[in-house]
Amino acid sequence: MSANAWMLKYRPKNLGMVQAQSTFVTILSNAIIQKRVSHSYLLTGIRGIGKTSIARIIGKTVNCSNQKIDKGAQVTPCENCENCASFNKGNHPDIIEIDAASHTSVDDVRTITENAAYKPLLGKFKVYIIDEVHMMSKSAFNAMLKTIEEPPEHLIFIFATTESNKLPPTVISRCQRFNLNRFSNNEIVQLLKDICTKEKVNITDNALAIIAKKSQGSARDAISLLEQISNIANTQGNIIEVDIVNSILNLEEHQTLLSMLSLALQGKGKEAFAILDQISKNRINFSHILEELLELVGVCSKVKLCPESAVEDIDLKENIHALAKCSSLEKLTITWQLILNTIKDLKEAPNHLPVIEILLCKIVYISEMSEVKEEGNQQDDDSYKNILKILDTLKEKNLLNLCYYLMNNVEIKSCTSTILEIMADQNDPLNDKLRAILKENDTDLVVTPLQKHATIRSLKNKLVELVKTSSQWKILHEHYNVKEVQDILLNTQ
Ligand SMILES: [Zn+2]
Repeated sequence: MSANAWMLKYRPKNLGMVQAQSTFVTILSNAIIQKRVSHSYLLTGIRGIGKTSIARIIGKTVNCSNQKIDKGAQVTPCENCENCASFNKGNHPDIIEIDAASHTSVDDVRTITENAAYKPLLGKFKVYIIDEVHMMSKSAFNAMLKTIEEPPEHLIFIFATTESNKLPPTVISRCQRFNLNRFSNNEIVQLLKDICTKEKVNITDNALAIIAKKSQGSARDAISLLEQISNIANTQGNIIEVDIVNSILNLEEHQTLLSMLSLALQGKGKEAFAILDQISKNRINFSHILEELLELVGVCSKVKLCPESAVEDIDLKENIHALAKCSSLEKLTITWQLILNTIKDLKEAPNHLPVIEILLCKIVYISEMSEVKEEGNQQDDDSYKNILKILDTLKEKNLLNLCYYLMNNVEIKSCTSTILEIMADQNDPLNDKLRAILKENDTDLVVTPLQKHATIRSLKNKLVELVKTSSQWKILHEHYNVKEVQDILLNTQ
């Protein structure tokens, strides 16, 4: 059995069988029932969501001599009339499929438009289904434009494309356009479950979920993957479980990747590399691994911000939460950016493995830098927090001269919630002003006299220094090419 047999077998045969496109089906059904069918349709959307199948269903339904309308107000071909019989045999003379990829010339289009002028032979409508229509040349489109603008009563064009942005606006504006939906993972799982029941395939829900995810919204890809997997797995006589799907699709289990990521983010390079060695055996292409890692970091960041947010993969929930708990949002965001950059690098790399190894090194490096920050001195931190609070108060009162004084002209010795100790020129009149303001907030000012010719370490210099020794600055400086700490410290905005 070829790997495309199920795709043909389970292709929708009427509008009622079309899945994931309910709005479109309703609109189209109503148009057919009310005999207001458009003369040109444009069906757009990713590959494998049923554009061509739907185009054929339109052709068959409009030509059926005995259309049925079911309870859901959906119109269905009768399957018995001469038109239906002819269509089902694949030789209806009035439903013509053209692959634009191989019929792009002006001459091809002239032949189409000339033939389109003749009345249909068997049905009511002559239906031209033009697939991959974006492949047609500009002059070919121009040759077709007049027929699209003034179509004979019996003519319907159905254009299908994955790349509508390549069509001339003059063509798009003359068509009734439908953007067909990508299938959701749930819709794909449901579709596959139905097929599994009919084909007596024994497979777990988690395994189906992996196929759904891998097919990225394309029902055709999902069905084709399911068929391949069941062909291989059935010969071994097994229930199809996650590990079988993973090994057939050459996917790495999330749990393994999550462990590797976790270890790297904790700075355990040796252990992380041991897992990478396992993963990289017999593997040449790593792009899928990076996509998975990116997704894991994304989920983890989300959990970090909103711990109650759902983790789709139940098996991973506990470990994702653990990783979110022990990693800062800063680490996660930078890791995400690093992986994203690596995905781009991979496209140009002749050999993937070294690129992935460097990525792992970078993640370990980031984790180590962040540790320095987390070991910071609590007393200093409190002191800075208190002094910044005082600066805020001064700014609120618009006492910018005092702000400037504290920032530049004195050295802060310590600052608790009740005492600010500075080293300054004792004769400066600003000391008394500052003392009076601080008193309002129950804080005392202690001024240690400044020795003659002594230099001070101003708060501004200390803050700049603090920024420049932080892990964030290193990252901004080394990875994002930020050169100087801007003088934002007195920004009153
Ligand atoms: Zn019929």
